[in-house]
Order: sequence, then structure tokens, then C-alpha cells
Amino acid sequence: MTEVTRREFTLLAAGAVAASSELSRPALAAGPARIVIIGGGPGGAAVANRLRAAAPDLAITLVESKETYTTCFYSNLYIGGFRSFRSITFGYEGVRKRGVNVITDTATAIDTTAKTVTLARGSSPLSYDRLVVAPGIDIKFDSIEGYSPEAAKIMPHAWQGGEQTWILKQKLLALPDGGLVVMSSPPNPYRCPPGPYERACMIAHFLKTTKPKAKLILFDAKRFYSKQAVFEQAFAEFYKDIVEINLTNEIDDYAVVKVNAETGEVTTKSGRSERAALANIIPAQKAGAIAANAGLTEGDWCPINPQNFSSTKARDVYVLGDAAIAADMPKSAYSAVSQAGVVAADIIADLAGKPRTVGRYRNTCWSMIAPGDSAKIGGDYVPGEKNGKPFLKGENEFISQPNDTSAVRLETNQESRDWYQTLVADLFGETPQMAAP
Ligand SMILES: Cc1cc2nc3c(=O)[nH]c(=O)nc-3n(C[C@H](O)[C@H](O)[C@H](O)COP(=O)(O)OP(=O)(O)OC[C@H]3O[C@@H](n4cnc5c(N)ncnc54)[C@H](O)[C@@H]3O)c2cc1C
Repeated sequence: MTEVTRREFTLLAAGAVAASSELSRPALAAGPARIVIIGGGPGGAAVANRLRAAAPDLAITLVESKETYTTCFYSNLYIGGFRSFRSITFGYEGVRKRGVNVITDTATAIDTTAKTVTLARGSSPLSYDRLVVAPGIDIKFDSIEGYSPEAAKIMPHAWQGGEQTWILKQKLLALPDGGLVVMSSPPNPYRCPPGPYERACMIAHFLKTTKPKAKLILFDAKRFYSKQAVFEQAFAEFYKDIVEINLTNEIDDYAVVKVNAETGEVTTKSGRSERAALANIIPAQKAGAIAANAGLTEGDWCPINPQNFSSTKARDVYVLGDAAIAADMPKSAYSAVSQAGVVAADIIADLAGKPRTVGRYRNTCWSMIAPGDSAKIGGDYVPGEKNGKPFLKGENEFISQPNDTSAVRLETNQESRDWYQTLVADLFGETPQMAAP
């Protein structure tokens, strides 16, 4: 497959979109082409919106389990006290108003031969011509002894947005001054590589400003992590006497292997144990359950063709966002939305019988480390091959540096804010309030 430049891709994608007025013609006898999308996060919602804007004739149905979506992105800022819960939570009215049929229900099965999706409450299965699967992640509860959905109510992971995010904040608010917070960071691959360290900064900021005698210990299953130099500087400069970071090394394996929700005990593989007043346990992850149920996974995640995120496991099915194997592209909202643009263009080109194009993608992950101080990492991604397997190769990569000036960090902070506000308005048609509670 030949690679195309960004400009060429934009033109090709535009060509595919321009072809959309012809979409209903071949399908007229049977009615408009039916697109079913499972999952109303950034991946699924962005595909629905892009398709709706480009192809008014398509019948687009978005199936989402929940009535509202609380973004994981920016949830650490809620934990730190910089945003309200309301300002990171959105309904689907905006998506409905755009002409997408949003069904609040859970997809329980996919028949890729009959091309149908069964819903938990829906009386009859939904038929599709093209299916988009964007269910995000599930937590691997069995990867830590003693951890379970019940234990997560006491030791929240807060790695899926909504109730979990809220529980973590309530527990932080209730923490006694002098209390010990223990965090665990998962092995790769997982959603939002810099997320645990932004979380550590935001919890530390909260403790510093409200409970100055409290401490945070982080146990990490990994030896290295994203934006490490910048975070290490931040921990030393802003949170020196509050945070203790333990990375796995030649001698100690700091993967958390056991917890006891009743006693607060958190134990690492090397046998170190801490009794936490509050434990934020972030376990290993896998693709949302519907993907495995439908036979779309290989191991924990879903293999895709990196040209367009079509599934390698089933025809006329796409998997995007966190559930997909998109290495080296990180699992992020930015990535999911970038993938969504390519998926939408590919569906339109395919339905119109036009040439399929090779996707190019982009990601940026911002992390807030202190007030007015954010760092970023990102790059472009093009389909390639590594060790005989398809992958997405990083190009034009960039990363914040520990010696950035405060003006650069402030600018990065504002960039991140602008990104969030623009993204959620684009996804959900709502402009969130900015004020903290
Ligand atoms: C603390 C934290 C901070 C983060 N910060 C950033 C950041 O700054 N920038 C960034 O780009 N990313 C960030 N991320 C990552 C980002 O949240 C995810 O990468 C992104 O949400 C993935 O989008 P998705 O659409 O694949 O999945 P999700 O956002 O998980 O959406 C999937 C949706 O599918 C629904 N669903 C699942 N199964 C079914 C089913 N069977 N039927 C119906 N509906 C179903 C779920 O309810 C969910 O709403 C962060 C993540 C965390 C945890």
C-alpha cells in the first residue's frame, strides 16, 4: 500500500466525502445504508458525527449503555479541584439533534454473518451494512487478587469515567489529614499512558492544598513511563515531601498483585505491603467485553488493518479507539477521534464504490502537573510494519522537556484547555462550564 501525504489524504478524504451524495443510490431499493455504532465515547461519537455531517442519507444508529458520558480526559483535573464533575459530563441530546438515532442500551451480541447487533433491552436485533465497534476498555479484575467490581467501590480505579471518578473524589475529600493514599499503575498497554502520573500530580496538588500532612505512594508495574523526565521533575519540584514513586527495577517488582478492600492493604509482587486510607488501584485492561464476545479480539485487544481500522476478524466491521491494537499509537481520546475521521471516510468511500485511501493519524496527550503548568507528547502516525506485523509508525514526534520555561508550560496548559473545550463541543454539541465547584 503506498503512503500518501497529509495533504493528499485530506483531498482524498474530501473526495470520499463529496461522493456521499451518491451513497443512497445503490442502496435505494433497500433504503439508505445502515450504520450501527457501538459505544458513545470519543471514538464512536466522532464516527457518528463525521458520517452524519458528510452523508445525510445514511441511517446512523449509536448504541450507548449510559445516558451520560463523563470524560476520563480531564477527570484528573476534577480530582485536583480544577474542574467540576458537571463540566466533564455530557448527554447525547446534541448528537440526537444532529440526526443520529441514539439508543440507550447495551449491545450484548454481534452476529457478523447475519450482520445484526442484539441489545439487552431491545426487542429485535439491529441490522447493519457497516458496524463500528468502539466500546473502550474493561478492567481486568482478575489480574489483582482481591480486586473485583465490589472492591472497586472502596478502592476505585477511576479509569472508566462516571461513578468511579466521582467515588475517588469523594474518598479524597473524606481522607483524614495525615492519611495515606496508595496508587497502583498498570502494565502496558493501557488507556492513556501518562494518565497515572497526571493523576499522581493532581492528587498530590489536592493533598498539598487541603491535607498537607497526607502522603501518596505510587507502585508501578513498569520500569519506564510516558513523559517520565517531566513528571520526575514535577514530583521533585512541586510535590517533594508528598509523593513517593516506586518503579519496578532489577531488584523489586512493584506490580500490585493483591489488595484487601476491608483492611486497605495493598501488596506488591516483591512483597511490600502498605495499609492505605485510600487506595486508587488501576489494574491491567482489555477491550470492552462486547469485542471479545463477538470474536473480534486476539488476546485482550482487537486487531485492525491500520490503513482504515477495519477489523481483521470480521467483514464490514471497524474497531477503533482504546479497544483496537493501534500500537504505537497511544490509547487516547485524541487518537480515537483521529481514527474516527479515517473510519468515516473509509465507510463512505466503500459504500460509494470509490477507491479506499490510506489513513494518516495524529495524537497529542496533555497532562496537567501543577496550576498553569502542563506538558505534552504527540506525533503523527502512518501505517507500517514491525516484526512482520502491521503497526502505526510515529513521525514528527514531540515531547515537553523538563527545562521548558514557565511561559511554554502555561501556553501548553491553555492549548490543552482549548483542545478539551473544542473536542467536547464537537463530540456532544455542548460547551462545558469552566469553573471548578
Ligand atoms: C485518568 C484519565 C485521563 C485521560 N486523559 C486523557 C487526555 O488528556 N487526552 C486524551 O486524549 N485521552 C485521555 N484519556 C484516555 C481517553 O479517556 C480514552 O482513550 C478514550 O476515552 C477512548 O475512547 P473510546 O471511544 O475508545 O472509549 P470510551 O471513551 O471508553 O467510550 C466507550 C463507550 O462505549 C460504551 N460501551 C461499551 N460497551 C458497550 C456496549 N456493549 N453497548 C453499548 N455501549 C457500550 C461505554 O459505556 C462508553 O461510553 C484519559 C484516560 C484516563 C483514564
